[in-house]
Amino acid sequence: MRQRIRLVVASHNRAKAAEIERILRDEGLELDAVSLADFPDVAPPPEIGQTFAENAMLKAEGAAAATGLPAVADDSGLEVDALDGEPGILSARYAGEGASDQDRYQKVLKLLRDVPGHERAARFRCAAAYADPDGTALLAEGTCEGHTAREPRGTSGFGYDPIFLPEGETRTMAQLTPSEKHAISHRGRAFRELAAASGAAGEGERLTPLRARAILAMVGA
Ligand code: IMP
Repeated sequence: MRQRIRLVVASHNRAKAAEIERILRDEGLELDAVSLADFPDVAPPPEIGQTFAENAMLKAEGAAAATGLPAVADDSGLEVDALDGEPGILSARYAGEGASDQDRYQKVLKLLRDVPGHERAARFRCAAAYADPDGTALLAEGTCEGHTAREPRGTSGFGYDPIFLPEGETRTMAQLTPSEKHAISHRGRAFRELAAASGAAGEGERLTPLRARAILAMVGA
């Protein structure tokens, strides 16, 4: 019988935590997952990293240290070429404190009002991190290329999904079913790679958080 993996999904964003859990289960992992919502005393760490990878690792390490459980986390966001990569790592806070997903994507649409179709390229990026209380750490990244739509469409997913058209799609990310989204999404790609890396790490070398950071610094991530 396969061993069940007990872990904490280090996110206070329920939609995102649900996506992470589903992606890992679809990889055949038998999870006994809890989310940080089950640990009301554990505050999210400040996102002081300069990259998605650094912030993902801070979240996973923080949750593993605070709960004593292995933890997975992601840091993700939308990069719009015509906005010089914004909202980027500021995606969750792009329209200020207390703003809604709708406020944030309307801000992007407004800034892009005069930008023609061929200059509306954008991508979602996700860094996925695993950390456990023994000091093992793993990192993986995923990207989903596409364009920003002219108006919001669809009600699935979360965040900027209603204004993002994945490459080769006429539907926005918010018009895809969850499995269609996870098959092509930045998060699906990053966590599938993380799951594969965890299998490979079982055979050979495991990274400490410090080494993972050193490697990331070397590759300039
Ligand atoms: P954080 O990683 O929790 O700092 O926030 C990531 C933010 O990026 C989310 O709050 C969304 O606004 C945006 N984002 C990340 N992934 C997705 C996605 O799959 N769809 C839509 N928006 C996303």
